[in-house]
Amino acid sequence: MKQKIKYFLMTLLASSTLLFASSTPIIDSISIYHDLSQYNFKIHNYEKALYFANKSFQFGQTSKNIEAQIKQSFDLGKMYFNLKRFHEAQYYFEHSIQLNNLSPSDFNKFKALYFAAFCALEKKEWNKATALFSKADSIKLTNSSENSRRNHLLLRKAKTYFNKNQLQTASNNFESLLLKLDPNVEKNILEEVYLYSGIIALKNKNFSVAQRFLEKALPLNQTTKNLKNKETLLLNLSKCYKGLRNFDRAYSYLEEYHLLKMHLAQKINAQQNIENFKKFKLDEEYKTTIKKNKEKQKEEETSRYSKLINILAIALITILSLLSLSLYKNNIIRNESNNLLKEKNQELIIAKNNAEKASKARAEFLSTVSHELRTPLNAINGITHLLLEEKPKKSQLNYLASLQFSGNYLATFINEILEINKIESNKIELESISFNLKELLENIQSSLHKFAVTNNNSFELHFDSEIPEYLIGDPTKLSQVFLNLINNALKFTHDGKVTIVAKLIYINEEDTKIKFRIIDTGIGIPKDKLKLVFENFSQGSVEINRKYGGTGLGLTIVKKLVKVLGGKIKLESEEGKGSTFSFTLPFKLAESLEEIPEKVANYDENQFKSKKILLVEDNKINQMITQKMLENKGIICLIIDNGEGAVQLMNDTEHEYDLVLMDVHLPGINGTIATQQIRNFDTKTPIIALTAISLDENREMLLSYGMNDVITKPFIPEEFYTTISKYI
Ligand code: ADP
Repeated sequence: MKQKIKYFLMTLLASSTLLFASSTPIIDSISIYHDLSQYNFKIHNYEKALYFANKSFQFGQTSKNIEAQIKQSFDLGKMYFNLKRFHEAQYYFEHSIQLNNLSPSDFNKFKALYFAAFCALEKKEWNKATALFSKADSIKLTNSSENSRRNHLLLRKAKTYFNKNQLQTASNNFESLLLKLDPNVEKNILEEVYLYSGIIALKNKNFSVAQRFLEKALPLNQTTKNLKNKETLLLNLSKCYKGLRNFDRAYSYLEEYHLLKMHLAQKINAQQNIENFKKFKLDEEYKTTIKKNKEKQKEEETSRYSKLINILAIALITILSLLSLSLYKNNIIRNESNNLLKEKNQELIIAKNNAEKASKARAEFLSTVSHELRTPLNAINGITHLLLEEKPKKSQLNYLASLQFSGNYLATFINEILEINKIESNKIELESISFNLKELLENIQSSLHKFAVTNNNSFELHFDSEIPEYLIGDPTKLSQVFLNLINNALKFTHDGKVTIVAKLIYINEEDTKIKFRIIDTGIGIPKDKLKLVFENFSQGSVEINRKYGGTGLGLTIVKKLVKVLGGKIKLESEEGKGSTFSFTLPFKLAESLEEIPEKVANYDENQFKSKKILLVEDNKINQMITQKMLENKGIICLIIDNGEGAVQLMNDTEHEYDLVLMDVHLPGINGTIATQQIRNFDTKTPIIALTAISLDENREMLLSYGMNDVITKPFIPEEFYTTISKYI
């Protein structure tokens, strides 16, 4: 049962909380708790009754509802009063009185004052009680029903004094009440007034007065049918007649009294049963209320849930609709942007293709032009060489020297253009071989020593001792970079100093980074030219070109090569003070040097005597020059001007050759295919390619067809002979 009430309480609390959402939540809570309190009081569950009454009172306070507070305060007071907890009762009655001052309701105030006075009486605070009663009595009540209810309270007051044995006061009160009563209407009050007045007179041994009062009460009792009063009445009448020595009457009243007592006892028993039954019924009602409340709550919850679900569903649908709308719009925008992007992409692709085509066309043009230039240049350089060897006249010697200078200049120029072209077309391949950096720089230093002396420059190499001995990289390209930069430094410095610095920046077990600086104290570069010098064909000035020569391509190649090697070239310079070129490059560490076949520095003239060389060359002038160069060394030279013929000749067992010089560009099958075919039946005879290496050719490619070596046109005679000497 306790459990159920608990549950009921909780559900009620929950429902009250939910009710906060509605318009009159607190009023409802006041009445709910009030009812609960009344019910519990009825079934003598006083603790609960007080708890709920307090709750109701608190809700009254929260809602600032004065009427409700007055009522709840008074009810609480009554509850404590009935429980004989007069102290608390008094507190609540007084509280009710105070509240009545705010919202005066005469009868309520009267009632509260009376009960406060009853409490005082119970606590034997006689003066306080009297003051409270007189304050209450000063209130004038006009309403007749309120008047009758007031008379009940007056009766209660008199009875309380009587119970407290304040007989005189009680008697006075009964007397004054008697004057106020309407004998035709308020019979029950009148009966009691007579009864108690009689008893008081009896206690004062004033038997005749007592008899008068009690005899008056008796007929009234027949109307009121108050058996309890009748019981008292009979007993006291018996006592009264006993005092008056009328024993007969005394006896007959006593007998009547006993009969009534027995009857009442039976009635009380029956009443008890009825009470029990009522209690049972009330319990049943209570259970049904709980059940109904639960159901109502469930219904409310369900409806609240369904409302919530509806709201959520609507919100969800709205959000989804908005989302779909924005997605749809997004999609449209995306499609539009996609189309725009596609168009732009298409345009970009076309532009890129055009740019690539243009770049390719330029590269091919450069390649073809330079290649075509090389062949006649070979003739010029070759013939100059031949003429110089034929002991010319002194006057001719000057002309030939100029011719040789111009030829060499052109050869360098063409080679540089080809180099740039190669780098820009990404046709350049990096080598990864182990080399000794210190040795490389020392070799460059010694090879340029003469040049340094010519310009009266001191020339130093500062090599960081921390740099590992062996590195992996591309020594050829590195040399190219250094040669260009140092050559420039020595060229543009007179009576000054050129320093090469190599410094270790970083090292771990596998890699290292080295910073290089080429410092000179030469003419320097004006500020506005610092960036320009790295561009194609850019020279400091026309005067510089006249005075120092050069093509204006060296730094372009250096910049591109440094980038390919993994660095970035920097230039600091001040006009008249000098320049510093610097860059940092990464290298892998090597354990030792790879075996590089040593170059035969020189050749023995006797080697060449009576050796037979087949020259495959279609250009008549080149045929003549090469043949002459070979014959000058006592070599027998046979010429064939096409690839097919060369293959046939080599296949002919009658002729044997010590070496073949194979031009790559030939009418019909070219030199590479001819070599490939020769290698099918002859793997021994050395074949050396003669080529003005173009964009698509490189040494590795030519060697892959079975050639043993490559001599590039225009030939540098010393290199030409040295290479041939290696194979015969
Ligand atoms: P060039 O073949 O003319 O030397 P470079 O590309 O090597 O071509 O150099 C471009 C120009 O940069 C040079 O003509 C010169 O004016 C300037 N230059 C390069 N190096 C130096 C230097 N060390 N000192 C002063 N000027 C230099």
